[in-house]
Amino acid sequence: MADDGSGRVRYTTTRLIDDDAVLHRGDFILDADGSWSHSRGDEDVELTLDGGEKVLTRSFQNWHTHLAMVLNRSMGEGLPLARWLEENIFPTEKRLTAELVDIGTQAACAEMIATGTSFAADQYYHPDVVANVLEDCGLRGLACGPITDFPSPSYPAGGSEALSKMDNLLREGFPSERVEYGIGTHAVYTCSEETLLKASELSRQHGCRLHIHTSETRKEVADCHAEHGMYPIEYLDSLDWFTEGTICAHCGWVTKAEMRILAGHGAHAVHCPSSNMKLACGGTLSYPAMVEAGVDVRLGTDGAASNNGLDMRLEAKLASLVQRHDHWDSTILDQRETWRLATKGSIDWAAWDLDDIRMRPRGIGERRILANLIYSTAQCSDLWVAGQALRLDGETLVLDEADIAVNLEDAVADYYDGIDPPQE
Ligand SMILES: [Zn+2]
Repeated sequence: MADDGSGRVRYTTTRLIDDDAVLHRGDFILDADGSWSHSRGDEDVELTLDGGEKVLTRSFQNWHTHLAMVLNRSMGEGLPLARWLEENIFPTEKRLTAELVDIGTQAACAEMIATGTSFAADQYYHPDVVANVLEDCGLRGLACGPITDFPSPSYPAGGSEALSKMDNLLREGFPSERVEYGIGTHAVYTCSEETLLKASELSRQHGCRLHIHTSETRKEVADCHAEHGMYPIEYLDSLDWFTEGTICAHCGWVTKAEMRILAGHGAHAVHCPSSNMKLACGGTLSYPAMVEAGVDVRLGTDGAASNNGLDMRLEAKLASLVQRHDHWDSTILDQRETWRLATKGSIDWAAWDLDDIRMRPRGIGERRILANLIYSTAQCSDLWVAGQALRLDGETLVLDEADIAVNLEDAVADYYDGIDPPQE
């Protein structure tokens, strides 16, 4: 693409699924500002592409990640949650460096681009490194520095150091239209009241988002109630903690009163079905109840350690399946609503390869394309962010996947050494 800023592209003889998940057919113009229109054929464009065997859709938006945890993918497979954390995740994270975060985040970004995702709301150590990798490969993102009271790899002195370093980063800001910083207060059981209050104050001061894990397990909810006489979201509300656009990951064990609190604050509740099922949480966000309460629900993969992948197409499928299963109702999250959930807020575009046996049959008027895409899958052919092609014809242009794979293998050889012995 020429770099003159217009970033306009035409796809001919193709299909486009719009923001309401309605299928259109014909020739289309995609503008750099994210808008689309039918093409007359005479517009000035930088590139014309044959879309004959493609379908254009909004790209996926992943609202809860720990991108660099690709480093921990498939560690401690099958261990119970507490042993998995104590024997695998925590010991490796003690060895974490900025360089490892860089390598892990690059691998995660390569996976996002290959699977049609253009945005991640991340929460991980060394958020400045995460922000730079996202920016370098042209993705959109929110890099939230994790805040806990205990010492962590980027903040060895604990919560107060984490908060003051985040304050400095937020003061500098991130020089990008695509990437912002946020504050990742980890959870109510890892942050004291004082830490939560300071984080909320910083969020208000800098106008940045808060991002928290909340009500992920029954134990967390029971412990919070025993300590504070309130469930986690009630407790956070009692502190006047919520700020504009707060992101609450999981929300698997919440009362209807708590859902009304989330709705009242305009918070985003992020459904993470793979992570909840993989870690055997026994419960996941109730989509119909959240919608009825007026909560804005988003979708997220969580980190690759508690999912094994960052593929939002699969996450969308699992969201639809687990909601129907849990509520004994096959009408919940039909293909259009599922697609809208997984792409909500996107102004970017993905093109999917229809020359794929998994996309057959397309049906009369190609009406089965969307359901096939969600439930059967297809390869992501192209990914466009603000007029920039990050991937074209099945090849990622902004990262070298082969180099990243080698770097990742080399990095984890030391990272895991002695912690993750070969399985018998
Ligand atoms: Zn998480």
